[in-house]
Amino acid sequence: MPPAATPTKSVEVETAAAEASRAVLERVFGYTSFRGRQSEILSTLIEGRDALVLMPTGGGKSLCYQIPALVRPGTGIVVSPLIALMQDQVAALRENGVRAAFLNSTLDRRAQETVERQLVAGELDLLYVAPERLVQDRTLSLLGRAQVSLFAIDEAHCVSEWGHDFRPEYRQLRVLVERFPAVPRIALTATADERTREEIVRELSLQDAARFVSSFDRPNIRYLIADAGDTGGSPRERLWSFIAREHPTNAGIVYCLSRKMVEETAALLERKGRRALAYHAGLDAEVRRTTQERFLSEDGLIVVATVAFGMGIDKPDVRFVAHLNLPKSIEAYYQETGRAGRDGDPADAWMAYGIQDVIQLRQWIAQSEASDAFKAVQRGKLDKLIGLAEMATCRRQGLLAYFGESGTSACGNCDNCMEPPRSIDATELARMALSAVYRTGQRFGVQYVTDVITGTRDERIVRNGHDRLSVYGIGASTPGPQWKALLRQLVALGYLDVDPEGHGSLTLSEQARPLLRGEAQFLLRDTARASPAPKRSRAERAAARSNGDGAAHAGGKGDLYALLRVARSRLAKEAGVLPYMICHDRTLTEIAGKRPKSETDLHGISGLGATKIARYGQALLEVVRRIDGG
Ligand code: ADP
Ligand code: ZN
Repeated sequence: MPPAATPTKSVEVETAAAEASRAVLERVFGYTSFRGRQSEILSTLIEGRDALVLMPTGGGKSLCYQIPALVRPGTGIVVSPLIALMQDQVAALRENGVRAAFLNSTLDRRAQETVERQLVAGELDLLYVAPERLVQDRTLSLLGRAQVSLFAIDEAHCVSEWGHDFRPEYRQLRVLVERFPAVPRIALTATADERTREEIVRELSLQDAARFVSSFDRPNIRYLIADAGDTGGSPRERLWSFIAREHPTNAGIVYCLSRKMVEETAALLERKGRRALAYHAGLDAEVRRTTQERFLSEDGLIVVATVAFGMGIDKPDVRFVAHLNLPKSIEAYYQETGRAGRDGDPADAWMAYGIQDVIQLRQWIAQSEASDAFKAVQRGKLDKLIGLAEMATCRRQGLLAYFGESGTSACGNCDNCMEPPRSIDATELARMALSAVYRTGQRFGVQYVTDVITGTRDERIVRNGHDRLSVYGIGASTPGPQWKALLRQLVALGYLDVDPEGHGSLTLSEQARPLLRGEAQFLLRDTARASPAPKRSRAERAAARSNGDGAAHAGGKGDLYALLRVARSRLAKEAGVLPYMICHDRTLTEIAGKRPKSETDLHGISGLGATKIARYGQALLEVVRRIDGG
């Protein structure tokens, strides 16, 4: 152990680093406190050691290298694989008065030379570089002539051959330790299992890296999963009532499986008076680009998309992500819902699904060309997701347990926590449904079986003589939609199989036998919940209202928050940046709540550092004055 590591000494060093960081946090970024382990991470880097950081999306990774770059002498070099995001980050930093620039293929020669000159002259705090450019000899020798404060390797999982984002250039980044052995390096990612973590440390030769592994949890996301179609209206009707009630003016993403559904849903939302755009692979590249741009630059736009939308989009104020179909796996669900609430403010992950989704996804897997082993894996992943959708206890616990985090307590911020579903003993009903499937020859789908049970007069049923079966009309006192919900749960829980040929016929599985023989019990999750989004607590409703959503608050003319939003859009247009770069929603919420009168008052507002106050303070104060008078 080196002598410098005696307890008193290291505390002193840490305090100095922590103090310097806190000053920058307040002055430059306008925040008052660190989140999670940010402070420890900053100190590690400031003291010159390497670090590996795993934090979920929205956890606050950027500050972990931006602040040390501002505290340490020299320029922080950030390796980032996505050119569009690089430009946005640089633009956002400049709004905070940070001297930031990027080097990538979009720069012409003159612009590139300017950046290079600034770097060598020590006029940059941060420089973002694409990985393929960084490892070029020319760039390395350029860095050799500059003073480098640290290297930050963002999206570090790209180094893994096993992951889905493998980038060969990332492996060459180990050259950094050879060329710049004294410069600390930090590797950051939001997705890395144990194996990938080790690969990152090994491939980048991080030296004795301190590891900071955060939970996968996204506490500000509320999880809501409703069954659809079976009870309580079509998925789209339910979606609309959810959006109208919870997010009348907020931006969001709606995911659907098919292009047709995307188009129809976008049209529906437009008819209801929302700005909604369709996004799928069948559209022109130019149309798709404009949609992305509008989503980032306009307030309150909804994009209805196939899963192609959202990658590489860093919009912090997406307030809801809705699924009108089941995703393929829990990983996909986590990733897609993770695009909500990156700014840390309350956001919703809402999903409605029906038996048709379960049937269709299972058929797609069965009919694909893949090997049986691969199909079994896919099928297993889908079943895990169905398990999450059907579970009666805390969804967040279920989600985190899937990612290996067990022992968490119930969250209080998901539908099941907020309004626990009742379990009803449905053994008798389940036996009726299973025998109806059996007596009709295991050749028919959900609709037909339901019609038989409820005793519906149907020509096909009569022709097949099924109106003479003992099961015909046996369940007439229970409405059809409830039978469908029951059949869905029987399929989801494995009592019924759906034939893989694509006709949707239901067949009995082995598991159904004990139930039919009366040897097992079947508990049904009561899905007749009044609304898929349970009522929020009073405090949450207040927060939502001051956030500009909540029906009570929708866009009233004299509404300070709404006017601040308009002002932000105008300022963004004038400055040629995106609205969130001027400030985040939370900053506007705070202004609307605290009603500052002077620039001094603005200093206490989250997200407004010195530069922003100097640039936009008066314009924001003017909006407050217009409402409050004076
Ligand atoms: P990540 O890169 O991990 O997805 P970001 O670095 O973009 O997350 O941070 C997410 C959001 O949280 C940003 O809006 C950022 O400004 C904000 N944030 C980060 N750290 C803090 C903090 N200590 N206090 C307040 N807001 C923070
Ligand atoms: Zn919960």
